[in-house]
Amino acid sequence: MIGCPNKISLGTLIAPVHFTHEKHEFMKPNFVQKIIFLVSVWIVPAVIAVAQTTQTTDKTLVNMFAKTLDIYYIDVEGGQATLFVSPSGETALIDTGFPGTRDPKRILEAVKAAGAKQIDYLVITHYHADHIGGFLELSKQIPILHYVDHGPTVQPEQNIPSKQAYDAAVAKGAHIIVKPGDKLPISGIDWAIVSSAGKTLADNMLGAPGAGKPNPYCAGFVGKDVQVDLENAQSMGSVISYGKFRTVDLGDLLWNVEAELACPVNRIGTVDVLLTTHHGMSWSGPKALVYALQPRVVVMNNGIRKGAQIETFETLESAPGLENLWQLHWSANGLLEHNVPGRFIANMEEPLITSGLIAHPPSPATSPTGPRPAGIVAPVPRAAMGNPDHDPAYWIKVSAQEDGTFTVTNARNGFSKIYQRKN
Ligand SMILES: [Zn+2]
Ligand SMILES: [Zn+2]
Repeated sequence: MIGCPNKISLGTLIAPVHFTHEKHEFMKPNFVQKIIFLVSVWIVPAVIAVAQTTQTTDKTLVNMFAKTLDIYYIDVEGGQATLFVSPSGETALIDTGFPGTRDPKRILEAVKAAGAKQIDYLVITHYHADHIGGFLELSKQIPILHYVDHGPTVQPEQNIPSKQAYDAAVAKGAHIIVKPGDKLPISGIDWAIVSSAGKTLADNMLGAPGAGKPNPYCAGFVGKDVQVDLENAQSMGSVISYGKFRTVDLGDLLWNVEAELACPVNRIGTVDVLLTTHHGMSWSGPKALVYALQPRVVVMNNGIRKGAQIETFETLESAPGLENLWQLHWSANGLLEHNVPGRFIANMEEPLITSGLIAHPPSPATSPTGPRPAGIVAPVPRAAMGNPDHDPAYWIKVSAQEDGTFTVTNARNGFSKIYQRKN
């Protein structure tokens, strides 16, 4: 466990530097030694003195040296790729984005920014092309040590090259098939599996805040009978905790299966950060689950035309305790009525397209609060599955401390917000 002392002693972090005035050739103070001397004799004591006299600076110094769980929500245009870097430095990547080189390149940029050299655990939520598509190219460029998935696909007809490459890799690599209740052995954090292969947790999460409580939002729950792309319902879902910080990722789990995690009792408890299930599509994300989780922050992994449907926006806008929604993309569904302020949006569309969409909102008609796209049972047109390359692409980064405080940063504009721990 990582300690978080109220006061930090820099003397324990920087080894003492000794100088001598003897005239031996190898001991002559050169430029570097002078710098070290200045730092050790003047700057370090000065910083310690300031830290000991001001509470704010003290906290800042503690934060500088505190270990964090870092999460990079990488823009893959309405697919998924989320990189976790544990306080111990181990890495886990949930999904690989779409086929081709675009999304692996974006993933590798995040890996590099995190200072990592390998993916210790590749977690494949399910085998749709927007989740496993980048595997073929990614696996050529970075070592992957463990493969984690829900087992065989229920849609074997979607046998794209990345799925074939994945099958070949797991046949000779370290392969972990998980079931609800399992844990991934990533040091420094707790990684619990809550759904897999159509099954969900049978028990409440031990010690989780709010877990096991009756859920009042179940009373208004109405099922949705989605009967296409059923691999979504197989999605592996994870609850990842670091100390008091908790986040949940359910892949593309479908509405009725999600509800099993929340009704009649909330199995998971409350979380700090929720990734929208299924990119914010209205096939997923029932209020009975979202409200029960009481996320302080929601990150939506939408593309400009994929996910981020109006029903999802409306659910989030009324979610109890939600402080901010952060979007990976400005949404052509949300338009002016539902998109959050630009500070919270990582990627924008071309200005001409955006202004055209705003000036001439697409049909179909509107809900009382804004344009509402077509009903929930229509399959997403393949043309909407991802966008052309845009470069650069920006991530949303969450950096969590063991006490539950976390910071969210928009890589496009540098806007950052600290969510202090709740007592
Ligand atoms: Zn998806
Ligand atoms: Zn899917």
